[in-house]
Amino acid sequence: MYREIFETGIEERAQAPAVRHLLARWQRLHEKLGFVPFAPFDPLELGPAADEMIVLVPMEDGDYLYAHYGKQVASHVGLDMTGQRSSKFQGPIGDFFRECNERAIASGTPLFTLHRSSFAAQVHLWERLVLPCRDEDGTPIVVIFSRPRELRDDLLSAILDASLDAIVAVRIIRDDEGKALDGEFIVANRRAAAFADLPIEVMLGSRVMSVFPRLREAGLWDKYVRVAETHEPNEFVAPYRSKGETRYFDISVGPLADGFMVTFADVTDRKKAEDEARLKQLEFAAANEALRAEIVRRQELEQELSWLATRDSLTGILNRRALTDGLEKALALAGRYGHPLALIALDLDHFKRVNDHFGHAGGDAVLKAAVGIMCFGLREDVDLVGRLGGEEFIAVLPHTGLTGAAAAAERMRAAFAATGVESEHGLISFTASFGVATWDGRESMDRLLCRADAALYRAKASGRNVVAVDEGGEDALIVRVPDAAPVAPEDSVLPFAPRVRSRPRPRNRSDQV
Ligand code: GH3
Ligand code: MG
Ligand code: MG
Repeated sequence: MYREIFETGIEERAQAPAVRHLLARWQRLHEKLGFVPFAPFDPLELGPAADEMIVLVPMEDGDYLYAHYGKQVASHVGLDMTGQRSSKFQGPIGDFFRECNERAIASGTPLFTLHRSSFAAQVHLWERLVLPCRDEDGTPIVVIFSRPRELRDDLLSAILDASLDAIVAVRIIRDDEGKALDGEFIVANRRAAAFADLPIEVMLGSRVMSVFPRLREAGLWDKYVRVAETHEPNEFVAPYRSKGETRYFDISVGPLADGFMVTFADVTDRKKAEDEARLKQLEFAAANEALRAEIVRRQELEQELSWLATRDSLTGILNRRALTDGLEKALALAGRYGHPLALIALDLDHFKRVNDHFGHAGGDAVLKAAVGIMCFGLREDVDLVGRLGGEEFIAVLPHTGLTGAAAAAERMRAAFAATGVESEHGLISFTASFGVATWDGRESMDRLLCRADAALYRAKASGRNVVAVDEGGEDALIVRVPDAAPVAPEDSVLPFAPRVRSRPRPRNRSDQV
Protein backbone atom coordinates (compact mmCIF):
# COMPACT_ATOMS: atom_id res chain seq x y z
CA MET A 1 0.00 0.00 0.00
CA TYR A 2 1.38 3.39 -0.99
CA ARG A 3 1.24 5.93 1.80
CA GLU A 4 3.19 9.04 2.75
CA ILE A 5 2.91 11.52 5.60
CA PHE A 6 4.30 15.06 5.32
CA GLU A 7 4.58 17.68 8.02
CA THR A 8 6.12 20.37 5.80
CA GLY A 9 5.53 21.73 2.30
CA ILE A 10 1.81 21.09 2.63
CA GLU A 11 0.69 24.06 0.49
CA GLU A 12 3.00 23.09 -2.35
CA ARG A 13 2.07 19.43 -2.22
CA ALA A 14 -1.70 19.77 -2.01
CA GLN A 15 -3.80 19.77 -5.13
CA ALA A 16 -7.18 20.76 -3.62
CA PRO A 17 -7.49 24.50 -2.85
CA ALA A 18 -9.58 23.60 0.22
CA VAL A 19 -6.44 22.17 1.85
CA ARG A 20 -4.76 25.56 1.70
CA HIS A 21 -7.83 27.35 3.08
CA LEU A 22 -8.34 24.95 5.95
CA LEU A 23 -4.64 24.93 6.81
CA ALA A 24 -4.49 28.74 6.82
CA ARG A 25 -7.53 28.91 9.13
CA TRP A 26 -5.99 26.31 11.48
CA GLN A 27 -2.69 28.20 11.55
CA ARG A 28 -4.36 31.55 12.27
CA LEU A 29 -6.23 30.10 15.23
CA HIS A 30 -3.15 28.29 16.49
CA GLU A 31 -1.10 31.46 16.35
CA LYS A 32 -3.76 33.36 18.28
CA LEU A 33 -4.73 30.78 20.90
CA GLY A 34 -1.80 28.32 21.05
CA PHE A 35 -4.30 25.51 20.29
CA VAL A 36 -7.13 25.07 17.79
CA PRO A 37 -10.74 24.72 18.95
CA PHE A 38 -13.00 22.33 17.12
CA ALA A 39 -15.96 24.72 16.68
CA PRO A 40 -14.66 26.56 13.56
CA PHE A 41 -14.14 23.17 11.87
CA ASP A 42 -17.48 21.72 12.93
CA PRO A 43 -19.03 20.23 9.75
CA LEU A 44 -22.32 21.81 10.81
CA GLU A 45 -20.65 25.19 10.30
CA LEU A 46 -18.65 24.34 7.18
CA GLY A 47 -21.43 24.19 4.56
CA PRO A 48 -20.71 22.14 1.41
CA ALA A 49 -17.07 21.57 2.46
CA ALA A 50 -18.44 19.28 5.19
CA ASP A 51 -19.08 16.65 2.50
CA GLU A 52 -15.32 16.09 2.25
CA MET A 53 -14.67 16.25 5.99
CA ILE A 54 -14.21 13.51 8.56
CA VAL A 55 -14.31 14.06 12.33
CA LEU A 56 -12.78 11.49 14.67
CA VAL A 57 -13.06 11.48 18.45
CA PRO A 58 -10.73 9.27 20.52
CA MET A 59 -12.49 6.66 22.67
CA GLU A 60 -11.46 5.41 26.10
CA ASP A 61 -10.31 2.03 24.76
CA GLY A 62 -7.84 3.70 22.36
CA ASP A 63 -10.09 3.38 19.34
CA TYR A 64 -11.54 6.36 17.43
CA LEU A 65 -15.18 7.12 16.71
CA TYR A 66 -16.28 8.61 13.38
CA ALA A 67 -18.41 11.54 14.62
CA HIS A 68 -18.80 12.77 11.08
CA TYR A 69 -18.12 11.11 7.72
CA GLY A 70 -18.65 13.44 4.71
CA LYS A 71 -21.11 12.41 2.01
CA GLN A 72 -18.54 12.68 -0.77
CA VAL A 73 -16.07 10.55 1.13
CA ALA A 74 -18.74 7.96 1.85
CA SER A 75 -19.73 7.80 -1.80
CA HIS A 76 -16.12 7.22 -2.95
CA VAL A 77 -15.44 4.61 -0.30
CA GLY A 78 -18.82 2.98 -0.78
CA LEU A 79 -19.80 3.00 2.89
CA ASP A 80 -20.82 5.57 5.49
CA MET A 81 -18.72 5.33 8.63
CA THR A 82 -20.69 7.84 10.71
CA GLY A 83 -21.03 6.52 14.28
CA GLN A 84 -18.66 3.61 13.56
CA ARG A 85 -15.34 2.71 15.17
CA SER A 86 -12.16 3.40 13.26
CA SER A 87 -10.99 -0.14 14.05
CA LYS A 88 -13.48 -1.27 11.45
CA PHE A 89 -10.66 -0.48 9.01
CA GLN A 90 -8.28 -3.41 9.45
CA GLY A 91 -4.84 -4.21 8.02
CA PRO A 92 -2.38 -1.67 6.58
CA ILE A 93 -5.06 0.97 5.89
CA GLY A 94 -6.34 0.75 9.51
CA ASP A 95 -2.77 1.03 10.81
CA PHE A 96 -2.16 4.03 8.56
CA PHE A 97 -5.29 5.87 9.75
CA ARG A 98 -4.43 5.17 13.40
CA GLU A 99 -0.86 6.38 12.90
CA CYS A 100 -2.10 9.62 11.30
CA ASN A 101 -4.56 10.32 14.13
CA GLU A 102 -2.06 9.56 16.88
CA ARG A 103 0.72 11.54 15.26
CA ALA A 104 -1.48 14.59 14.72
CA ILE A 105 -2.67 14.53 18.36
CA ALA A 106 0.80 13.87 19.78
CA SER A 107 2.61 16.51 17.70
CA GLY A 108 -0.25 19.03 17.71
CA THR A 109 0.65 19.96 14.12
CA PRO A 110 -1.21 19.40 10.84
CA LEU A 111 -0.25 16.50 8.57
CA PHE A 112 -0.67 16.10 4.85
CA THR A 113 -0.99 12.54 3.61
CA LEU A 114 -1.12 10.69 0.31
CA HIS A 115 -2.32 7.11 0.14
CA ARG A 116 -3.87 4.53 -2.12
CA SER A 117 -6.39 2.11 -0.75
CA SER A 118 -8.14 -0.90 -2.19
CA PHE A 119 -11.32 0.15 -0.36
CA ALA A 120 -12.16 2.61 -3.07
CA ALA A 121 -10.69 0.87 -6.08
CA GLN A 122 -11.75 3.57 -8.49
CA VAL A 123 -9.78 6.16 -6.54
CA HIS A 124 -6.13 6.19 -7.55
CA LEU A 125 -4.93 8.32 -4.75
CA TRP A 126 -6.31 10.16 -1.75
CA GLU A 127 -4.93 13.39 -0.44
CA ARG A 128 -5.83 14.31 3.13
CA LEU A 129 -5.23 17.15 5.56
CA VAL A 130 -5.24 15.93 9.18
CA LEU A 131 -5.88 18.71 11.71
CA PRO A 132 -5.55 18.23 15.49
CA CYS A 133 -8.24 20.27 17.32
CA ARG A 134 -9.74 20.39 20.82
CA ASP A 135 -13.26 20.18 22.12
CA GLU A 136 -14.48 22.71 24.72
CA ASP A 137 -13.44 20.40 27.56
CA GLY A 138 -9.98 19.86 26.04
CA THR A 139 -10.70 16.45 24.46
CA PRO A 140 -8.61 16.04 21.31
CA ILE A 141 -10.61 15.84 18.09
CA VAL A 142 -9.13 15.00 14.71
CA VAL A 143 -10.60 16.84 11.74
CA ILE A 144 -9.68 15.45 8.32
CA PHE A 145 -10.22 16.84 4.87
CA SER A 146 -10.13 13.94 2.46
CA ARG A 147 -10.43 14.03 -1.33
CA PRO A 148 -9.40 11.76 -4.21
CA ARG A 149 -6.81 13.35 -6.46
CA GLU A 150 -7.75 14.04 -10.05
CA LEU A 151 -7.74 10.84 -12.04
CA ARG A 152 -4.85 11.84 -14.30
CA ASP A 153 -2.70 11.37 -11.18
CA ASP A 154 -1.46 7.90 -11.50
CA LEU A 155 0.69 6.64 -8.68
CA LEU A 156 3.99 7.63 -10.25
CA SER A 157 3.01 11.18 -11.06
CA ALA A 158 1.47 11.53 -7.61
CA ILE A 159 4.74 10.54 -6.04
CA LEU A 160 6.63 12.83 -8.41
CA ASP A 161 4.29 15.70 -7.68
CA ALA A 162 4.68 15.21 -3.95
CA SER A 163 8.37 16.02 -4.40
CA LEU A 164 9.49 19.55 -3.74
CA ASP A 165 12.30 19.00 -6.26
CA ALA A 166 11.76 19.33 -9.99
CA ILE A 167 12.05 15.94 -11.69
CA VAL A 168 12.29 15.18 -15.40
CA ALA A 169 13.13 12.12 -17.43
CA VAL A 170 14.52 12.64 -20.92
CA ARG A 171 14.89 10.31 -23.90
CA ILE A 172 17.87 11.31 -26.03
CA ILE A 173 17.25 12.06 -29.72
CA ARG A 174 20.25 11.09 -31.85
CA ASP A 175 21.28 11.71 -35.47
CA ASP A 176 22.22 8.91 -37.90
CA GLU A 177 25.73 8.75 -36.49
CA GLY A 178 24.40 8.40 -32.96
CA LYS A 179 25.31 11.92 -31.87
CA ALA A 180 23.00 13.28 -29.17
CA LEU A 181 21.17 16.22 -30.76
CA ASP A 182 18.33 16.93 -28.38
CA GLY A 183 16.04 15.21 -25.93
CA GLU A 184 12.36 14.65 -25.34
CA PHE A 185 10.66 14.94 -21.96
CA ILE A 186 9.00 11.66 -21.14
CA VAL A 187 8.39 12.51 -17.46
CA ALA A 188 8.01 15.90 -15.79
CA ASN A 189 6.55 16.62 -12.38
CA ARG A 190 4.62 19.71 -11.34
CA ARG A 191 7.70 21.47 -10.03
CA ALA A 192 9.56 20.96 -13.32
CA ALA A 193 6.58 22.20 -15.33
CA ALA A 194 6.26 25.25 -13.09
CA PHE A 195 9.94 25.99 -13.57
CA ALA A 196 9.57 25.70 -17.37
CA ASP A 197 6.38 27.78 -17.17
CA LEU A 198 4.45 25.14 -19.10
CA PRO A 199 1.51 22.87 -18.32
CA ILE A 200 2.76 19.33 -17.71
CA GLU A 201 0.79 18.07 -20.76
CA VAL A 202 2.66 20.51 -23.01
CA MET A 203 6.03 19.82 -21.46
CA LEU A 204 5.71 16.06 -21.94
CA GLY A 205 6.83 15.28 -25.51
CA SER A 206 8.51 18.69 -25.91
CA ARG A 207 12.09 19.04 -27.05
CA VAL A 208 14.56 19.75 -24.25
CA MET A 209 16.34 22.45 -26.24
CA SER A 210 13.12 24.30 -26.94
CA VAL A 211 12.12 24.30 -23.25
CA PHE A 212 15.61 25.02 -21.85
CA PRO A 213 17.46 26.79 -24.70
CA ARG A 214 20.49 27.66 -22.57
CA LEU A 215 21.17 24.11 -21.43
CA ARG A 216 23.99 23.51 -23.93
CA GLU A 217 25.80 26.82 -23.34
CA ALA A 218 25.52 26.30 -19.58
CA GLY A 219 27.48 23.05 -20.09
CA LEU A 220 24.67 20.99 -18.57
CA TRP A 221 23.54 19.12 -21.68
CA ASP A 222 26.96 17.50 -22.18
CA LYS A 223 27.04 16.48 -18.52
CA TYR A 224 23.58 14.87 -18.83
CA VAL A 225 24.49 13.01 -22.03
CA ARG A 226 27.70 11.77 -20.40
CA VAL A 227 25.63 10.25 -17.55
CA ALA A 228 23.41 8.51 -20.14
CA GLU A 229 26.45 7.17 -21.98
CA THR A 230 28.65 6.18 -19.03
CA HIS A 231 25.75 5.06 -16.82
CA GLU A 232 27.47 6.84 -13.96
CA PRO A 233 25.23 9.14 -11.92
CA ASN A 234 26.44 12.66 -11.22
CA GLU A 235 25.62 15.30 -8.61
CA PHE A 236 26.68 18.94 -8.62
CA VAL A 237 25.60 22.53 -8.07
CA ALA A 238 25.48 24.63 -11.25
CA PRO A 239 24.27 28.07 -12.31
CA TYR A 240 21.53 28.42 -14.91
CA ARG A 241 20.22 31.65 -16.38
CA SER A 242 16.50 31.79 -16.58
CA LYS A 243 13.98 34.64 -16.73
CA GLY A 244 16.78 37.22 -16.78
CA GLU A 245 18.59 36.08 -13.65
CA THR A 246 21.22 33.53 -12.77
CA ARG A 247 20.03 30.98 -10.23
CA TYR A 248 21.94 28.07 -8.70
CA PHE A 249 20.63 24.51 -8.82
CA ASP A 250 21.45 21.41 -6.88
CA ILE A 251 21.34 18.87 -9.70
CA SER A 252 21.33 15.11 -9.53
CA VAL A 253 21.47 13.09 -12.77
CA GLY A 254 20.95 9.37 -13.22
CA PRO A 255 21.04 7.16 -16.34
CA LEU A 256 17.74 5.90 -17.75
CA ALA A 257 17.61 3.59 -20.82
CA ASP A 258 18.89 5.86 -23.63
CA GLY A 259 18.34 8.97 -21.62
CA PHE A 260 18.62 10.35 -18.18
CA MET A 261 16.63 11.48 -15.20
CA VAL A 262 17.35 14.86 -13.62
CA THR A 263 16.26 16.05 -10.19
CA PHE A 264 16.96 19.70 -9.52
CA ALA A 265 16.19 22.23 -6.83
CA ASP A 266 16.83 25.95 -6.75
CA VAL A 267 19.46 26.48 -4.03
CA THR A 268 20.33 30.09 -4.88
CA ASP A 269 19.28 31.41 -1.48
CA ARG A 270 21.13 28.65 0.34
CA LYS A 271 24.22 29.20 -1.81
CA LYS A 272 24.06 32.96 -1.23
CA ALA A 273 23.86 32.40 2.51
CA GLU A 274 26.78 29.95 2.34
CA ASP A 275 28.86 32.35 0.21
CA GLU A 276 28.10 35.19 2.60
CA ALA A 277 29.02 33.03 5.58
CA ARG A 278 32.28 32.05 3.87
CA LEU A 279 33.05 35.70 3.09
CA LYS A 280 32.27 36.69 6.68
CA GLN A 281 34.57 33.95 7.89
CA LEU A 282 37.39 35.26 5.67
CA GLU A 283 36.74 38.79 6.88
CA PHE A 284 36.84 37.61 10.49
CA ALA A 285 40.08 35.74 9.86
CA ALA A 286 41.65 38.82 8.24
CA ALA A 287 40.47 41.07 11.07
CA ASN A 288 41.83 38.55 13.57
CA GLU A 289 45.19 38.47 11.82
CA ALA A 290 45.35 42.27 11.75
CA LEU A 291 44.48 42.38 15.43
CA ARG A 292 47.14 39.79 16.23
CA ALA A 293 49.74 41.76 14.27
CA GLU A 294 48.70 44.95 16.07
CA ILE A 295 49.02 43.21 19.45
CA VAL A 296 52.51 41.95 18.54
CA ARG A 297 53.47 45.44 17.30
CA ARG A 298 52.26 47.00 20.55
CA GLN A 299 54.03 44.40 22.64
CA GLU A 300 57.26 45.11 20.77
CA LEU A 301 56.70 48.83 21.16
CA GLU A 302 56.07 48.38 24.88
CA GLN A 303 59.21 46.27 25.18
CA GLU A 304 61.16 48.90 23.31
CA LEU A 305 59.75 51.65 25.51
CA SER A 306 60.47 49.80 28.73
CA TRP A 307 63.95 49.00 27.44
CA LEU A 308 64.51 52.65 26.60
CA ALA A 309 63.25 53.65 30.04
CA THR A 310 66.16 51.74 31.60
CA ARG A 311 68.83 53.01 29.22
CA ASP A 312 71.17 55.92 28.95
CA SER A 313 70.39 57.37 25.54
CA LEU A 314 73.98 58.27 24.60
CA THR A 315 75.78 55.05 25.50
CA GLY A 316 73.01 52.45 25.70
CA ILE A 317 74.10 51.18 29.13
CA LEU A 318 71.82 51.28 32.21
CA ASN A 319 70.75 54.71 33.43
CA ARG A 320 71.06 55.75 37.05
CA ARG A 321 67.68 54.41 38.11
CA ALA A 322 68.00 51.04 36.34
CA LEU A 323 71.50 50.67 37.74
CA THR A 324 70.46 51.31 41.35
CA ASP A 325 67.44 48.96 40.87
CA GLY A 326 69.80 46.28 39.56
CA LEU A 327 72.28 46.89 42.36
CA GLU A 328 69.52 46.56 44.94
CA LYS A 329 68.51 43.16 43.53
CA ALA A 330 72.13 42.04 43.28
CA LEU A 331 72.66 42.98 46.94
CA ALA A 332 69.54 41.03 47.97
CA LEU A 333 70.85 37.94 46.15
CA ALA A 334 74.32 38.36 47.59
CA GLY A 335 72.74 38.66 51.06
CA ARG A 336 70.60 35.57 50.59
CA TYR A 337 73.34 33.33 49.18
CA GLY A 338 76.26 34.89 51.05
CA HIS A 339 78.43 35.66 48.09
CA PRO A 340 80.67 38.76 47.72
CA LEU A 341 79.84 41.79 45.59
CA ALA A 342 82.11 44.60 44.43
CA LEU A 343 81.53 48.07 42.98
CA ILE A 344 83.80 50.02 40.66
CA ALA A 345 83.04 53.76 40.47
CA LEU A 346 84.83 55.63 37.73
CA ASP A 347 85.03 59.21 36.55
CA LEU A 348 86.83 60.49 33.46
CA ASP A 349 89.73 62.75 34.27
CA HIS A 350 89.64 66.41 33.23
CA PHE A 351 86.75 65.71 30.99
CA LYS A 352 85.86 69.36 30.89
CA ARG A 353 89.10 69.88 29.00
CA VAL A 354 88.18 67.18 26.50
CA ASN A 355 84.98 69.07 25.79
CA ASP A 356 86.83 72.34 25.64
CA HIS A 357 89.45 71.06 23.20
CA PHE A 358 87.50 68.69 21.06
CA GLY A 359 83.97 69.99 21.36
CA HIS A 360 80.89 68.29 22.78
CA ALA A 361 80.87 65.73 19.93
CA GLY A 362 84.43 64.77 20.77
CA GLY A 363 83.38 64.41 24.42
CA ASP A 364 80.46 62.18 23.43
CA ALA A 365 82.77 59.97 21.35
CA VAL A 366 85.02 59.55 24.39
CA LEU A 367 82.04 58.64 26.59
CA LYS A 368 81.04 55.92 24.14
CA ALA A 369 84.58 54.61 23.88
CA ALA A 370 84.83 54.59 27.69
CA VAL A 371 81.70 52.42 27.89
CA GLY A 372 83.15 50.01 25.33
CA ILE A 373 86.31 49.66 27.41
CA MET A 374 84.39 49.18 30.66
CA CYS A 375 82.18 46.46 29.26
CA PHE A 376 85.06 44.54 27.73
CA GLY A 377 86.01 41.73 30.08
CA LEU A 378 82.87 41.97 32.23
CA ARG A 379 80.35 39.11 32.35
CA GLU A 380 77.34 39.82 30.19
CA ASP A 381 74.65 38.11 32.27
CA VAL A 382 76.18 38.81 35.68
CA ASP A 383 77.81 42.24 35.83
CA LEU A 384 75.95 45.55 35.51
CA VAL A 385 77.33 48.73 33.97
CA GLY A 386 75.50 52.05 34.30
CA ARG A 387 75.99 55.75 33.79
CA LEU A 388 75.24 57.78 36.89
CA GLY A 389 75.35 61.00 34.88
CA GLY A 390 77.95 63.17 33.11
CA GLU A 391 81.20 61.21 32.87
CA GLU A 392 80.63 59.07 35.95
CA PHE A 393 80.00 55.34 35.70
CA ILE A 394 79.45 52.37 37.98
CA ALA A 395 80.15 48.68 37.40
CA VAL A 396 78.51 46.13 39.73
CA LEU A 397 80.41 42.83 39.97
CA PRO A 398 78.50 40.12 41.90
CA HIS A 399 80.45 37.05 43.08
CA THR A 400 83.59 39.22 43.05
CA GLY A 401 85.86 40.12 45.94
CA LEU A 402 88.20 43.05 46.42
CA THR A 403 91.19 41.56 44.59
CA GLY A 404 89.16 40.59 41.53
CA ALA A 405 87.41 43.95 41.38
CA ALA A 406 90.69 45.88 41.82
CA ALA A 407 92.23 43.83 39.01
CA ALA A 408 89.25 44.50 36.76
CA ALA A 409 89.45 48.24 37.55
CA GLU A 410 93.15 48.26 36.88
CA ARG A 411 92.60 46.51 33.55
CA MET A 412 90.05 49.20 32.66
CA ARG A 413 92.36 51.98 33.79
CA ALA A 414 95.21 50.68 31.64
CA ALA A 415 92.90 50.26 28.65
CA PHE A 416 91.56 53.83 29.05
CA ALA A 417 95.07 55.21 29.11
CA ALA A 418 96.04 53.16 26.06
CA THR A 419 93.03 54.12 23.95
CA GLY A 420 92.73 57.11 21.67
CA VAL A 421 89.52 58.33 20.04
CA GLU A 422 89.57 59.87 16.58
CA SER A 423 87.87 63.23 16.28
CA GLU A 424 87.75 65.97 13.70
CA HIS A 425 90.22 67.95 15.84
CA GLY A 426 92.67 65.06 16.18
CA LEU A 427 93.25 62.02 18.38
CA ILE A 428 91.77 62.32 21.89
CA SER A 429 93.64 60.60 24.70
CA PHE A 430 91.88 60.21 28.01
CA THR A 431 92.22 58.60 31.38
CA ALA A 432 89.87 57.84 34.25
CA SER A 433 90.08 57.45 38.01
CA PHE A 434 88.59 54.44 39.78
CA GLY A 435 87.22 53.76 43.24
CA VAL A 436 86.64 50.12 44.28
CA ALA A 437 84.64 48.92 47.30
CA THR A 438 83.18 45.58 48.35
CA TRP A 439 79.95 45.07 50.18
CA ASP A 440 80.41 44.21 53.84
CA GLY A 441 77.34 42.00 53.85
CA ARG A 442 75.21 44.36 55.97
CA GLU A 443 75.46 47.96 54.84
CA SER A 444 72.86 49.78 52.76
CA MET A 445 73.24 50.33 49.06
CA ASP A 446 73.72 54.07 49.62
CA ARG A 447 76.57 53.50 52.04
CA LEU A 448 78.27 51.10 49.66
CA LEU A 449 77.91 53.65 46.83
CA CYS A 450 79.28 56.33 49.15
CA ARG A 451 82.35 54.23 49.98
CA ALA A 452 83.06 53.55 46.30
CA ASP A 453 82.65 57.26 45.64
CA ALA A 454 84.98 58.14 48.49
CA ALA A 455 87.60 55.78 47.05
CA LEU A 456 87.12 57.46 43.68
CA TYR A 457 87.60 60.85 45.37
CA ARG A 458 90.85 59.62 46.83
CA ALA A 459 91.97 58.41 43.42
CA LYS A 460 91.28 61.87 42.03
CA ALA A 461 93.06 63.49 44.96
CA SER A 462 96.09 61.31 44.48
CA GLY A 463 96.64 62.58 40.96
CA ARG A 464 94.02 60.80 38.78
CA ASN A 465 94.47 57.83 36.38
CA VAL A 466 94.65 55.50 39.39
CA VAL A 467 92.57 52.82 41.10
CA ALA A 468 91.80 53.40 44.79
CA VAL A 469 90.48 50.51 46.84
CA ASP A 470 88.40 50.91 49.97
CA GLU A 471 89.34 47.98 52.15
CA GLY A 472 86.85 49.00 54.77
CA GLY A 473 89.56 50.51 57.00
CA GLU A 474 90.12 54.12 57.84
CA ASP A 475 92.26 54.81 54.80
CA ALA A 476 91.54 53.46 51.39
CA LEU A 477 94.55 51.75 49.90
CA ILE A 478 95.65 53.28 46.67
CA VAL A 479 96.77 50.77 44.12
CA ARG A 480 98.67 52.08 41.20
CA VAL A 481 99.89 49.68 38.59
CA PRO A 482 100.63 51.85 35.57
CA ASP A 483 102.15 49.29 33.17
CA ALA A 484 101.18 45.94 34.67
CA ALA A 485 99.71 43.19 32.53
CA PRO A 486 95.92 42.76 32.99
CA VAL A 487 95.07 40.62 35.99
CA ALA A 488 92.16 38.15 35.80
CA PRO A 489 89.49 38.62 38.47
CA GLU A 490 89.38 35.87 41.03
CA ASP A 491 86.05 34.56 39.62
CA SER A 492 85.87 33.03 36.20
CA VAL A 493 85.29 35.72 33.66
CA LEU A 494 83.55 35.38 30.31
CA PRO A 495 84.65 37.71 27.57
CA PHE A 496 82.25 40.60 27.34
CA ALA A 497 82.32 42.08 23.85
CA PRO A 498 82.33 45.88 23.85
CA ARG A 499 78.93 46.70 22.50
CA VAL A 500 76.77 49.77 22.77
CA ARG A 501 73.28 49.07 21.60
CA SER A 502 71.15 51.98 20.53
CA ARG A 503 68.16 49.73 19.73
CA PRO A 504 66.72 47.02 21.93
CA ARG A 505 66.44 43.42 20.95
CA PRO A 506 62.67 42.85 20.78
CA ARG A 507 62.50 39.60 22.79
CA ASN A 508 64.38 37.61 25.44
CA ARG A 509 66.28 40.68 26.33
CA SER A 510 68.38 40.41 29.43
CA ASP A 511 67.96 43.13 31.98
CA GLN A 512 71.68 43.30 32.22
CA VAL A 513 74.05 45.46 30.20
P1 GH3 B 1 87.75 65.74 37.06
O1 GH3 B 1 89.00 65.14 36.57
O2 GH3 B 1 87.94 66.39 38.40
O3 GH3 B 1 86.63 64.83 37.07
O4 GH3 B 1 87.47 66.93 36.10
P2 GH3 B 1 86.32 66.99 35.08
O5 GH3 B 1 86.56 68.11 34.14
O6 GH3 B 1 86.13 65.67 34.41
O7 GH3 B 1 85.06 67.25 35.98
P3 GH3 B 1 83.85 68.17 35.92
O8 GH3 B 1 82.76 67.56 36.74
O9 GH3 B 1 84.27 69.54 36.27
O10 GH3 B 1 83.41 68.24 34.44
C1 GH3 B 1 82.59 67.24 33.88
C2 GH3 B 1 82.24 67.67 32.51
O11 GH3 B 1 81.55 66.67 31.76
C3 GH3 B 1 81.34 68.88 32.52
C4 GH3 B 1 80.33 68.62 31.43
O12 GH3 B 1 80.33 69.60 30.44
C5 GH3 B 1 80.76 67.31 30.83
N1 GH3 B 1 79.66 66.49 30.46
C6 GH3 B 1 78.68 66.02 31.26
N2 GH3 B 1 77.81 65.23 30.54
C7 GH3 B 1 78.27 65.25 29.26
C8 GH3 B 1 77.82 64.63 28.02
O13 GH3 B 1 76.81 63.94 27.97
N3 GH3 B 1 78.57 64.87 26.90
C9 GH3 B 1 79.67 65.64 26.93
N4 GH3 B 1 80.36 65.80 25.80
N5 GH3 B 1 80.10 66.21 28.04
C10 GH3 B 1 79.44 66.04 29.20
MG1 MG C 1 85.60 64.09 35.62
MG1 MG D 1 82.55 64.19 37.23
